[in-house]
Order: sequence, then structure tokens, then C-alpha cells
Amino acid sequence: MVGQIIDGKAIATKKKRELSQTVDGLKKEGVTPGLAVILVGNDPASQTYVRNKQKACVEIGMHSELIQYDETITEEFLLNTIAELNEDKNIHGILVQLPLPNHINPNKVIKSIDPRKDVDGFHPYNVGKLVIGEESFVPCTPLGIIEMLEEIGFDLTGKHAVVIGRSTIVGKPMGQLLLNKNATVTYCHSKTKDLPSITRQADLLISAIGQPYEITADYVKEGAVVIDVGMNRNEHGKLCGDVLFDEVKQKASYITPVPGGVGPMTITMLLANTVKAAKL
Ligand code: NDP
Repeated sequence: MVGQIIDGKAIATKKKRELSQTVDGLKKEGVTPGLAVILVGNDPASQTYVRNKQKACVEIGMHSELIQYDETITEEFLLNTIAELNEDKNIHGILVQLPLPNHINPNKVIKSIDPRKDVDGFHPYNVGKLVIGEESFVPCTPLGIIEMLEEIGFDLTGKHAVVIGRSTIVGKPMGQLLLNKNATVTYCHSKTKDLPSITRQADLLISAIGQPYEITADYVKEGAVVIDVGMNRNEHGKLCGDVLFDEVKQKASYITPVPGGVGPMTITMLLANTVKAAKL
């Protein structure tokens, strides 16, 4: 079997077109969805992510504000900025680009965001709502993956989904979303013993480990759907995923590429969450 490629870029473009129409509608009612992005310090990767997020906002007609601070700012100063944004009627979504400098506690910062403006879905209030299966803001990467699975018509009911990675940003919310959609979910991580014997049972395999080319064909069941979240640099400095694409493609029914898979969906879901916040 040669797997079909899930074109994240194309799905994201389609979704952005729909969102752009919703934004037009909201504007006619006098509401322009607004996203505030806070960047502390000058980490080059974070700067690129933030630039891409802003570009995407503009593309669909949203309002976006970049608030940039030197890495020496105090935690209190940052918390005050968030308190102001929580009250700002023109801002519907607040995103603090992570990582933050070491002297600032990210959990404290995330908890200071009004849960109704928590478009990253990291606030414990939204995390809790996801767990009890209530409507909430869900982290963008797992949300984008669900959209992709819907796009290919993959019915999760009763399927065995194996998620490799248990971060709060990707792995844990991913598994929870799949469970809420009636999949049987197994989480794996760096302490999992004999990983391939577990991943080979997966109808749906999602890798979010951040290790270039770790997932070879030996980890994959014939006909599985394989989603590669990893964004890594290989030995030549080229962007690559966790999955050895050319090899795994021969076994999978569907597979996401890197780049052009999960990445474009993540940004699009940030837009979707901000539009949702504006509607609320
Ligand atoms: P973290 O480093 O926070 O988590 C990685 C997880 O993978 C951990 O749970 C770790 O286990 C597990 N792990 C690491 N190595 C192995 C291994 N060899 N075998 C099994 N499990 C392993 O990363 P993130 O969740 O934040 O991100 C994961 C990847 O996804 C990164 O490459 C990141 O760049 C990418 N990413 C891509 C996005 C996109 O839009 N495409 C968005 C967000 C992230 P343990 O808990 O035991 O340490």
C-alpha cells in the first residue's frame, strides 16, 4: 500500500477561506476579531512563529497586535499587561509565545489570561473542560489534527489511536480529544518499553516526540493513518518530522508530510479559536 498524503496546506487554505467569510460577517456586525500576541525576548524561532501568526491574521482580515518586550521585564510587568488585555474590548484572543525567560513562571502567566480569551487552550479551566467533555478552547495543534482526520473521513469510533508524546501542548490534549471521539487511546513516551510493539497496534499513529526520522516502517501497521507532528532539523539543517516519510508512506493508508502537514493547520486553528472567542 502507498499512503495518500494529507495536504495540511490545502486543508488550511480551505479553512482560512471559510474563516475569512466569518470574519467579514462579524465585521458587518461591528466586531473585528482581535488577537494580541506577546513576545518576550528575541528567540529567533519564536520571532518566526509570531510573524507567521500575525501574517495569517491579516490574511483573513483579523486585527492583530504584537506586543514585544525585552527579556529583562519582570513577571509582574507581564502580568499587568495581560490584565489590561483581559479588559480590552478589541482583543478577543491573547497568546503568550513560549518559552518565556527563566525568571518568569509560564504557568502563572497562563493562569492570568482570561479563560474566555485563552485561544491557545492552555489555561487549567479550559484543560479541565476538555477533560470533562465540555465545549472549550482546545490547543491548536491537536485541534488541527482532528480537522485533518475529519477531512479524510476517518471515523475514530472504536479505533486504536496511539499518541507518542505527553506534553501539555500536544500529546495530552491530543489523546483526550481522541478519547472524547470514542477512540481507544494509548499514550507512549520516553519511558515506554518496546515502543514499536505498541505503535504497530495503532489504526491511528500520532508522533509528537521531536526526534528526526525516529518512526520507521517497523513502528507502523499496514494501512494505519500516520500523523507527524514533529518539527525537527536533520543533520543537514533541513526541516523534517519524526517519521521516516518515504519508508512509512509505503505502509500507511494516509500520512502527513513535514513541512506542509500539521504545521499549517496549527496556525489556522489559532485563527479559528480567535474567531470563536470573538463570537462568544
Ligand atoms: P516535548 O519535548 O514537550 O514533548 C516530547 C514528548 O515526546 C515527551 O512526552 C517525551 O517523553 C516524548 N519522547 C521524546 N523522545 C521520545 C522517544 N524517543 N520515544 C518516545 N517518546 C519520546 O515536545 P512538544 O510536545 O512540545 O513537541 C513535540 C514535537 O512537535 C516537536 O518536534 C515540536 O517542534 C513539534 N511541534 C509541532 C507543532 C506543529 O504545529 N507542527 C506544534 C507543536 C509542536 P517524556 O515525557 O517521557 O520526556
